[in-house]
Amino acid sequence: MLHHIAIVGSGPSGLFCADALLRQRPDLKIDVFDRLPTPYGLVRFGVAPDHQGTKAVTRQFDRLFAGGNIRFLGHVQVGRDLLLADLHAHYDAVVLAVGAHGDRPLGVPGEDLPGCYGSMAFVGWYNGHPDFRDLAPLLDRPAVAVIGMGNVSVDILRVLGKSRTEMASSDLTAHAAEVINAAPLTDLYALGRRGPVEASFTSAELAEIGRLERVRPVVNKADLPESLPLGIAPAELKVKEKNLQLLHEFAERTDDKPIRLHFMFHQRSEAVLGKDRVEGLKLVGRETPLEIGTLIRAIGYYTAADGDLPQSDARGVIANTDGRIEHGLYVVGWAKRGPSGTIPTNRADSKAVADLLLADYANDTAPPKEGSAALDAWLLSRGVNVMDWTCWKRIEAAEIAAALPGSPRAKLAAWEELRKHRQP
Ligand SMILES: Cc1cc2nc3c(=O)[nH]c(=O)nc-3n(C[C@H](O)[C@H](O)[C@H](O)COP(=O)(O)OP(=O)(O)OC[C@H]3O[C@@H](n4cnc5c(N)ncnc54)[C@H](O)[C@@H]3O)c2cc1C
Repeated sequence: MLHHIAIVGSGPSGLFCADALLRQRPDLKIDVFDRLPTPYGLVRFGVAPDHQGTKAVTRQFDRLFAGGNIRFLGHVQVGRDLLLADLHAHYDAVVLAVGAHGDRPLGVPGEDLPGCYGSMAFVGWYNGHPDFRDLAPLLDRPAVAVIGMGNVSVDILRVLGKSRTEMASSDLTAHAAEVINAAPLTDLYALGRRGPVEASFTSAELAEIGRLERVRPVVNKADLPESLPLGIAPAELKVKEKNLQLLHEFAERTDDKPIRLHFMFHQRSEAVLGKDRVEGLKLVGRETPLEIGTLIRAIGYYTAADGDLPQSDARGVIANTDGRIEHGLYVVGWAKRGPSGTIPTNRADSKAVADLLLADYANDTAPPKEGSAALDAWLLSRGVNVMDWTCWKRIEAAEIAAALPGSPRAKLAAWEELRKHRQP
C-alpha cells in the first residue's frame, strides 16, 4: 500500500510532484530530501538574480510546506549521507528529482585553463550556491566570451553587463557583485554554433539586452536573413520572427556605450588558448583568435550520478519510461527529460509522473513501509545532521534582515554560514 514517499531534490520538479501527489492523496506522507540546506533548486541557484518575478513560484512551494503531510530534510545528500537502498527500505516509493548539474565540456584543448568555467558553476557562483562560493572566476580582462545562444548565455551576459544601479533590486550575491563591478569589461561575445534563426533565446530576454544602460549589442547585418526560412514549427514562429526583428534592430545601432556585446553566429571553437590562463579562443576558419580573458560554456548539462543513484545514460538523463525507472522508483524534471523547458514545463511533467506512480499502486496490497519515524531514528543513529524547514526559515530570515535597500535578500552562500542555522 502506498503511504510513505521520498522525493530526492527540492527543485521545481520535485515540489510540483509532491503537490500533484498530495492533491490526489492528501493522506500520503512525503519527505523531500535535498543535499543543500535551502529548497527550490535552480529557482534559487539558476534563475537570474535580476529576474525576481520568475522566483515568485517559491511562494506556491512555501504554501505546500505549510500543509501537514510534507517535510523538508535539507543538508542530506542521497547517495552519500544515506543511500537509495536505505530510502527503499523506509519508503513505499521514491522519486528522483535531482536535476542536471554537470556542465557539458566543449571537448577542445585548453578548456581546463583557469578562466574557463561551466555555466552551472559560474551562475552558481553569482547566485550563491555554496559549492561555487569560492570559484573566484578571473574577470580581470576586458573581454569575456560565452559559448551558447540560449537564455542561460543571455542571462550571464546581462548580469555581467548591467550597471550597479540596474542590479540594485536583484539578489546578486555581494561577493560576485564586487568582482563584476570591478571587471574592466569592454567586449562581451555571444558565440553560437548555429545561425540567428536557430538561436534558442526567448524574445523578452533578447529585447532586454537592447535596453541595457552600458551595453550596445553588435550584430553583423550580413549574418541575418531578411525573413525566416520556410518550415519553422508554428509554435516557434512568433518568437523567431520577433528575435529576427530584434537582431535587425541591433544591427542598425551605432550608439556609443562602454561595453559592446557581439553576437557571433556559425562559430565553432577549436582551442582555448593561453599558457597559465585563458588568453584567447581559436575559432574554426578564423585566422585571428578572439582575445579574451574569460570563457564560459553554456552548452548544456547532464545528470551526474551520486553514490548508488542510477547512472545517467548517453543523453545525460536517468533512463526511464515516462518517468518510471522501475516499480517503486521514478524520475522527474531535468533528470528525466534533460535540461530543457521552463519552470512551468516541470509542473505538467511532474503531474504526469505522479499520476503514473499512483496508478502503479492502485491495486497494491503490500503493507506500507515504516516511513519517517523509522528514518529519523536511522539518520540520528548515523549522525546525519538534517536541516529542516525551520532551519531554512531561519536562513531566509537572516538573508532578509541583511538585505541592502531595494534588494530582496543578501544570500548566505558559504557552507559554514548556512550551517550556523542548524538545529541547536
Ligand atoms: C542558469 C539557469 C537559468 C534559468 N532560468 C530560468 C528562468 O528564468 N525561467 C524558467 O522558467 N526556468 C529557468 N531555468 C530552468 C529551471 O531552473 C529548470 O527548469 C528547473 O529548475 C528544473 O527543475 P528540477 O527540479 O528538475 O532541477 P533543479 O532545480 O536543479 O533541482 C534539483 C535539486 O536536487 C538536489 N539534489 C541533487 N542531487 C541530490 C542528491 N544526491 N541528494 C539530495 N538532493 C539532491 C539539488 O540540490 C537541487 O535542489 C533556468 C535554468 C538555469 C540553469
